[in-house]
Amino acid sequence: MDLYRIIYASRASDLARDDIAGILAACERNNPRLHVTGMLLLDNGHFLQLLEGRRSAVSDRLFAISRDPRHHGVEVLTCGPIASRLFSDWSMHHVAVHGANAQTLRRYLGGAQFDPFVMSAPSVEQLCLDIAAHSAAAAFEQTLRRA
Ligand code: FAD
Repeated sequence: MDLYRIIYASRASDLARDDIAGILAACERNNPRLHVTGMLLLDNGHFLQLLEGRRSAVSDRLFAISRDPRHHGVEVLTCGPIASRLFSDWSMHHVAVHGANAQTLRRYLGGAQFDPFVMSAPSVEQLCLDIAAHSAAAAFEQTLRRA
C-alpha cells in the first residue's frame, strides 16, 4: 500500500462548545472506511493534525478538511511517504493537552505558547512521534489494567 503522511496546521475559528465533538464524529464516520488514521491536537487556538493512509485517501480528507469553516489558514507542514503508521489504532486520536501530553508539548515550546506555524518540520514530526509513543504506552497500560 502506498502509505502517506501529512501534518498540517490551522487556526481555529470561533469554536462552539460541541465543535470538537462534531469534528471527531466526522472522523469516526469517514476515516475508517478510507483507512485513514491520525491525531488531532488543539491548543492555543491552533490545530495540528496528522493524517496517514493511502495517498489518495489522505488527499481526499485534506481537501474536505481545508474547506471547513471551523478553522482557516490550513498550511501543510510536512508530507511524504511512510513505511508504517504512527496511529494505526485510531481513526483520529484526540490529543488532550494535559498530563504527559502537556509535558511533552512544554518541552518543545520552551515557555512559548503553542504555535505550530513557527515550528520546524523536524520538530513537528518529533512532537508527533513523542505523542504517538505516549499514546501507545497509555493504551498498553489500560489493556494491562483491564486484564
Ligand atoms: P457532515 O459532517 O454532515 O458535514 C457536511 C458539511 O457541513 C461539511 O461541508 C462540513 O464542513 C459542514 N459542517 C459540519 N458541521 C459543521 C459545523 N459545526 N460548523 C460549520 N460547518 C459544519 N473529517 C474527516 O472525515 N476526517 C478528519 O480527519 C477530519 N479532521 C478534521 C480536522 C479539523 C481541524 C476540522 C476543522 C475538521 C475535520 N474534519 C474531518 C471534518 C471535515 O472538515 C468535514 O466536516 C467532514 O469530513 C464532513 O463530514 P461528512 O461528509 O460526514 O458531512
